[in-house]
Amino acid sequence: MREFKFYDVEQENIRQWIAEHEAAHKVLDDLKVLGEFNLSSLPMDINVIPQYSYEFAPGPIGTSVKVRCTCGAQKDVTDVDSW
Ligand SMILES: [Zn+2]
Repeated sequence: MREFKFYDVEQENIRQWIAEHEAAHKVLDDLKVLGEFNLSSLPMDINVIPQYSYEFAPGPIGTSVKVRCTCGAQKDVTDVDSW
């Protein structure tokens, strides 16, 4: 039975997604300063400081793991191969 822990692949998925996501925040922050786009058209709230939380959802086969940013973005980082 799996407890609330990450497998290596998931840790890597999380690390990768956060790196990409931080970069996206940075780009959007820069664009915001330039007034280059309409903020309401974005799928995420860039007026928050990005912070991450994890969500474990036990399913019939295995536990899926999601990482979520305070901006509303989320990513399923489940290592399905570990099931
Ligand atoms: Zn975010």
